[in-house]
Parts: sequence; structure tokens; C-alpha cells
Amino acid sequence: MWRQREWQKISDVLDGMRDEMIKMQTEITAIPAIGPSSGGDGETERAKYLIGLLKELGLEISEYNAPDSRVTSGNRPNIIARFKGIYPTHKIWIMTHMDIVPPGPRDLWNTDPYQATVIDDKIYGRGTEDNQQDMVASIAAVKALKSVGFMPVYDVNLILVSDEETGSQYGAGHLLKVAPQLFKADDIYVIPDAGNEDGTLLEIAEKSIFWVKFTTKGKQVHAASAPKGINAHRANANLIVALDKMFKKNYKKKDRLFSPPFTTAEPTKKEANVPNVNTVPGEDVFYFDCRVIPEYDIQQVLADIKTEVANIEQKFGVQIKLDFPQAEQAAPPTSVNAPVVKLLKKAIKQVYNVNAKPRGIGGGTVAAFFRRLGFPAVVWAKFADNAHKPNEYCLIDNMKNDAKVYAYLAGMEVEAKEKPESRPAG
Ligand SMILES: [Zn+2]
Repeated sequence: MWRQREWQKISDVLDGMRDEMIKMQTEITAIPAIGPSSGGDGETERAKYLIGLLKELGLEISEYNAPDSRVTSGNRPNIIARFKGIYPTHKIWIMTHMDIVPPGPRDLWNTDPYQATVIDDKIYGRGTEDNQQDMVASIAAVKALKSVGFMPVYDVNLILVSDEETGSQYGAGHLLKVAPQLFKADDIYVIPDAGNEDGTLLEIAEKSIFWVKFTTKGKQVHAASAPKGINAHRANANLIVALDKMFKKNYKKKDRLFSPPFTTAEPTKKEANVPNVNTVPGEDVFYFDCRVIPEYDIQQVLADIKTEVANIEQKFGVQIKLDFPQAEQAAPPTSVNAPVVKLLKKAIKQVYNVNAKPRGIGGGTVAAFFRRLGFPAVVWAKFADNAHKPNEYCLIDNMKNDAKVYAYLAGMEVEAKEKPESRPAG
């Protein structure tokens, strides 16, 4: 555990690293790293720069390239940089991603997205917040600790992955596939890839995302002779109402981790059917976006939807085809009592003087890859919520203070009572 004077020293060192962190941000921003499915050439050049930086710090580097013939290098790089700690009983993992999303229309930017620009307390540029803010913060934390000869309680491993913005198959997914033996259930997993403006959101759970496309076929006729046709649009209107009733009746459970604390099921996109008013549509297409709390299995949701679909088919004489643009059962949540939750809460309290709370969110993050394998991951960062927007920026104080959170974490011990009983003594 930290002694006050020792911590003060690290904290001061990090305060003094402001310009150095801005320099890192600038150099990283200048090397675009966009995945091939977003029209880029991957993360290799950026990875080379980062490996150089991590080697300079004297960290032990392991590389886990995922072959991908769509990029010039033929590989999507994934890096683990190890800062050795005292005890082998646990490991700290801080995972950030190297890839960025394209800047989008340049005329929406006030500065060059690949030229980091400091204005007041912000650094503007694509990727400066998502995910460079905390990539730089985690590297700076290690550098600060090393500069004063501090040895972390447990190994601190920085994971830098590819492909987070486009599915993670070549990133975290690849790493967990080829090197699962590196990871243990009582390790500390921090994924600083989402968060809120006061740093109080510890994301430990996600809803299942279930998107359903309904393609309904009837019979197209002139509206004047409507009875000769089968109106697919009317059938779908009735189906939407039936689905609404079904969800209200069957999905009442609440889960207080989430806001809203229940399952949502919304009719969203509606495709154009006939171009003119006087035609009865023979085909009609709409979508549902369902966010299902983890207590429910999406197979059950599917079965319930199919029952309503069968009723409408029978009643209106239509045929309804179902497609699933996204169907991802939520990973089991990280326990609110997991050591990572307790340690992060304390570190955040120390640095930001706020009480962070474990909560769930409605969307999916890369943490699910870890949680599915039983590795308790928390998604946390103090973010100004700029990801993917034009004029993305990083608040310099967030970067510096998140670095302090990681540095503080490196000096903390998992309490004995929090350890699983079956764990062998280290
Ligand atoms: Zn991100």
C-alpha cells in the first residue's frame, strides 16, 4: 500500500510530465491507424512507434500479430509490454487500442485531424481521446513509476491492440485466442475505452444487443382493388403492435445496474416500400433494436418474436422472413465484488475524490471478450465524450490524472479476504 510521501512524489512526477504526454499524443496522432474495413492500411506503422517507446522504458515486449492480407504489412499488430512487479499472484492488465475511426468530412474539423493541436486545456485531433488519452496515460504511469525506482506490487501489463473499432477479431479476439494462458480469473483488467465526464462510471455489465430485420411479403395491387392484394405494410403495422405488447408482458424484470434498468425493444428503421400512394405494398421491411438485460437469453426473445410472427402470418396471409444484423448474447457481468472494482474505486477516489459506481451500459464493448472467458474486466476512463466526433479532443487533465489512477493502482494490494479460497499461495 502507498505511503503518503511516496505517492506524493509519483503524483508530482506525473504533474511534471504534462508536456511529455502532449508530445506522445502529437507523435501518435501523426501516424494514422485505420483498419482496412474502414479504408485504412492498419496499425503497423503506429505500432512500430509505440514499440520503440515501450522498449525505451525497458519493458519486456511480446507481439501477437494477427495475419490480415488486406494491409500492406500483412499483419494487425497486438503488443503486450510487461513492467515486472513483486508478487506473481495477480497481474494488472490495462488495455487500449491503437486503431482510430476515420476523421470524416474535413470541413467539419477546425484543425488538421492528424496534427495534434493544443488549445487551452485540450488536445484536438482524431484519436486523441479514443483511445490515445489513456494509452498515453498508461505509458506515462509506468514511466513515472520507473523514474523513481518504484516496483509495482503485481506485474503491470500494457496491452495495445488493433481492430477495436471494427470488431476486434484481429485485436483482443486474436490475442485471447492465441495466448489465453497469459490471463487468469483473479487478475485485474482495466479497459479505458469508455467513461463519463466525472470519472464515476465503472462499466461492469452490458445488455445483449439483438437486431431483427422483418421482411414481409404479401401481394401488390392497385389500391382501388385492395381486396385482391395482401397489404404487407398493414401486416407489419399489426406486427409492431403485437411485438410491443409481447415485450411489455414478457420482459418485466429489472436490473438496477442499468439505466434504463429494463429491456428495451424499439421499432427503428423502416425501409421504403412503394413509391406512390395508390399502390398496396406487396413487400414491407422494418427493424427492431432490442437491448436485453443479461438476465434474459436472447434465444428466448427470438422464440417469443417467432410466436408473434406466426400469428401475423396466419391472420394476414403474409410471409415474414427474419434476419439478424446483430445478435450478441451479453457476456456475464463482472462481479461488483471483483478486486478490480474495489481497487479502481479506491484509486479513483484518491485521484479524483469522487465515488465511482459499478454500472451497466446498453451497448457492447471489447470487455465482453474477456468477460466471456471469466476474466473480470472493468471499462473505465474519465472521458469528455468526444469519441468518433469531428474536433475530437482530449482534456489534458484527464490524461494526466488517469495516469495517476494507473500509477496508484500499481501500488495497491488485493485484500486477502477478496482472494478466492482455492487460489494457491503465491
Ligand atoms: Zn475506443
